[in-house]
Amino acid sequence: MNRVHNFGAGPAQLPIEVLQSAAQEFLDYKGLGLSILELGHRSSEFEEVLASAKERLIRLLNIPEDYDILFLQGGATLLFAGIPLNLLHYKAGYLISGNFSNKAYLEATKYGNAEILANSKDQDFREVPSLDSCPQDLDYVHICQNNTIYGTQYHRLPTTGDVPLIADVSSCFLSAPMDISKYGAIYAGVQKNAGPAGLSITVIKKSLVKKAQDICPTYLDFGLQLKQNSMLNTPNTWAIYLTNKVFEWIENAGGLAQMEMRNREKSQLLYDFLDESQLFSARAKPSSRSIANVVFSTGSEELDAEVIAEAKKENIVGIQGHRLIGGMRASCYNAVPKSSVLALRDLLYQFEKNKR
Ligand SMILES: *Cc1c(COP(=O)(O)O)cnc(C)c1O
Repeated sequence: MNRVHNFGAGPAQLPIEVLQSAAQEFLDYKGLGLSILELGHRSSEFEEVLASAKERLIRLLNIPEDYDILFLQGGATLLFAGIPLNLLHYKAGYLISGNFSNKAYLEATKYGNAEILANSKDQDFREVPSLDSCPQDLDYVHICQNNTIYGTQYHRLPTTGDVPLIADVSSCFLSAPMDISKYGAIYAGVQKNAGPAGLSITVIKKSLVKKAQDICPTYLDFGLQLKQNSMLNTPNTWAIYLTNKVFEWIENAGGLAQMEMRNREKSQLLYDFLDESQLFSARAKPSSRSIANVVFSTGSEELDAEVIAEAKKENIVGIQGHRLIGGMRASCYNAVPKSSVLALRDLLYQFEKNKR
């Protein structure tokens, strides 16, 4: 088996143990004589999978009792609409820290009164914007907690007073422990750090779920979906099944505190190298650096392309930066082993040495 060093930003690397376990039961799930792909979502066996995923997530994130969980399709992008359609009744505030938070904001303006409270565009999104004072007449404040494209992250949450904080955590979901009680809701497309594409997870405070806007599609009505346990229609059974296996893998590996330790160590290995380097530099300001997505470049498009080609020869893939900003990006999600990070660091070191 020839597995590459995969730094892709998403869909991203999954734990090999998860893939092996899924492969082993792929043709015959629990002796039923059929694949999990062929199993009805109303069967007791699938209901067990969903219940198990829910229980594990509650344990992993220590989710308080006054919160509930949604497993929906459409990725984080559909939730850019789902959040305002369910929670925006008067006015909402958005912090713009990059491409995804801007998309979330633009989507909200379709369904109501959304305003920008802070923006770090003038800083080229090299840091996350801070919120100096928060208006208290808002339904919610929205942030993107980890900016996958620009490689920045909130290390301290903005203070919003009594206004619920809603966070897109797609690329930092389950990368470290988080205090759910500080949020009105968090949501994530799971394909970055927790599973395959085609599934989003929302953890939301129950008291925020009231009547959705009249134009809200039935599918996106949080209240209805919660009542139906995310099974208003056929859910993405495969993605829920696989994500549950990733939850199990995280638990067996020691939980989120362990994930955080590993992720910090991996990203720090790269940042330390980049800070020493004469050729490469990290894009984000140190105070806003992401522990998941390390974004860097040589400053020259030609040299960056050379690095990416050299890396490919060493089985290091997925380090091309997002098309919006170019350069390189190493996503060091939970399933990326330290050995891959060391291989990448050695490659960058050798590349620089050969250029001198
Ligand atoms: C990838 C990503 C998205 C988009 O997710 P989809 O599931 O493709 O809709 C949104 N926000 C963040 C932070 C992301 O990393």
